[in-house]
Amino acid sequence: MRTPLVIGNWKMHGTLGEARALATAIRDGLKRPRGVEVVLCPPFTALAAVAESLGTGPIQLGAQTCHHEAAGAHTGEVSPAMLADLGCRWVLLGHSERRREIGEPDGLINQKVKAALEHRLTPVLCVGETAEERRQGLTFTTVEGQLRAGLAGLAAAAIARSVLAYEPVWAIGTGVNATPGQAAEVHGYLRGLLSELASKEVAQQIRILYGGSVKADNADVLVAEPEIDGALVGAASLGAPGFIAIVKKAARVGAAPKE
Ligand code: PEP
Repeated sequence: MRTPLVIGNWKMHGTLGEARALATAIRDGLKRPRGVEVVLCPPFTALAAVAESLGTGPIQLGAQTCHHEAAGAHTGEVSPAMLADLGCRWVLLGHSERRREIGEPDGLINQKVKAALEHRLTPVLCVGETAEERRQGLTFTTVEGQLRAGLAGLAAAAIARSVLAYEPVWAIGTGVNATPGQAAEVHGYLRGLLSELASKEVAQQIRILYGGSVKADNADVLVAEPEIDGALVGAASLGAPGFIAIVKKAARVGAAPKE
């Protein structure tokens, strides 16, 4: 069985004081999360402070992106080695906001996935279609292209150390989440592709998260789907009570065998 995973993506939010307060409130509200893994991804500026607030507790630290080289003349960038040194164990890669705003192409995302793995960070590869692509019936084509390109050249053992997040672009920050059925359909498709790219066994062990307007009041129905192994949460991770409620719902679903 795959342990549910809930990741909070704070995006470009939070002063140091706000980040410390939020991390501390989440830490105190989730002292011993059982049957669920929890990761917080604050902005780079708050990583050290959040690492300190989380201490050696069960909540883990992640970053929202990284460069693909370990060091070098890359003004403004942060390397996977630096993130690992700060205590990060996770990194989001290929988030649609970076694909859209920075123009991150699939090939670069692939290099980042490889670099993350080399530095023992777990890459969370994000894929998802726009509203227009869904309207045109291109959902599977889009996510397949992003998945194949993002994992290109990786051996099955490396793929096994990764996590996927299906995040339909039309659901991110809009308040309109995919229905459990819509998400499960794409997750099932991605898992089928993972069987081909790695193996059936690896495909069965990889967690595929859903992201896009997950909130406390829809988390349980989404995570209850056998194909949905947790959530990547944006806006609703910026308030401790709501995020804690999502984690507890995922943990409850994780404690009860699906199907
Ligand atoms: C995200 O950006 O990863 C995300 C899922 O955002 P939101 O939960 O706000 O839709």
